Amino acid sequence: MMIVMKDGATSEEVQGVVDRLHEVGAEAHLSKGEFKTVIGAIGDREVISQVPLLALPGVEKVIPIMKPFKLVSREFHPDDTVVDVGGARLDSGRFVVIAGPCAVEGEEQMLSSARAAREMGAHILRGGAFKPRTSPYSFQGLGEEGLRLLAKAGEMTGLPVVTEVVDVRHVAMVSSYVDMLQIGARNMQNFLLLREVGLQQKPVMLKRGLSSTIEEMLMAAEYIVRGGNSNVVLCERGIRTFETATRNTLDLSCVPLVKRLSHLPIIVDPSHATGQREIIADLARGALAVGADGVMVEMHPDPRSALCDGSQSLGFDEFAGMMEQLRSLAPALGRVV
Ligand code: PEP
Ligand code: MN
Repeated sequence: MMIVMKDGATSEEVQGVVDRLHEVGAEAHLSKGEFKTVIGAIGDREVISQVPLLALPGVEKVIPIMKPFKLVSREFHPDDTVVDVGGARLDSGRFVVIAGPCAVEGEEQMLSSARAAREMGAHILRGGAFKPRTSPYSFQGLGEEGLRLLAKAGEMTGLPVVTEVVDVRHVAMVSSYVDMLQIGARNMQNFLLLREVGLQQKPVMLKRGLSSTIEEMLMAAEYIVRGGNSNVVLCERGIRTFETATRNTLDLSCVPLVKRLSHLPIIVDPSHATGQREIIADLARGALAVGADGVMVEMHPDPRSALCDGSQSLGFDEFAGMMEQLRSLAPALGRVV
């Protein structure tokens, strides 16, 4: 249920509605726009509908939210949510580029990637430190040492950093090194982990599950926002289909659909979607054209020797080429890279 307050409703009137909702055991989530305050009432629909909300002072109208996701729905929050990742803002104007290696492998590899990312105009640096892989025999990441190297590379280049957190017990520790926490595709429905990252305030990038529907992704985001953290960035990274020519199938239609359904920013990861460096720049342009807020791509000083996801990692020259293509396309779409 969404309670829209009248223009200029007083804070006492808003509090009156919040108190009334709490009395019947419902949660009240406030969304303050420039003119209007909207209160999202979450709880037992039957119970809430018994409260004469329309009769309370300052209330303009009461609208039921039909979607299963509430707080992340555009009905609840009509304006785009702007997420600030250590100074890099996902605000629909700028097309934000996140780049870096799949995994942090060592100091030199991380620092040279960071310098290249910075030089070529990326806005955020990535690097995985915890890499549970499909095979337990593959490289599993450097753990906390990897986080130290990522943070150092970020500091040296002035780039904010993002990394994946895979364990509820690591959230506070990982969060102390980075500007944004990433929830990987395989953990999109790890509800305990979602709850935990919702209890802290660092932005969270939530990747779409390998076989998840858009609704399931938005329900996963709802867990994080419900915990109190509305700094959520969604990421379309390809889904499993019958097609085997690419590692996954990039579902670009997800982007404009999510834009209609939700106020959260959404970016695209063409690296994991395709598994092939040759077509990453093409799909990054596609992401820009369909209105994504940014892309995340993997790059490596020497992709052929990468310990993880080398075939989908761009070399520095290829990354520079992609940036140039994005920069020349952006003005036609009213965007800046
Ligand atoms: C990643 O971005 O490092 C990653 C592991 O991606 P995904 O969770 O989408 O597979
Ligand atoms: Mn990877």
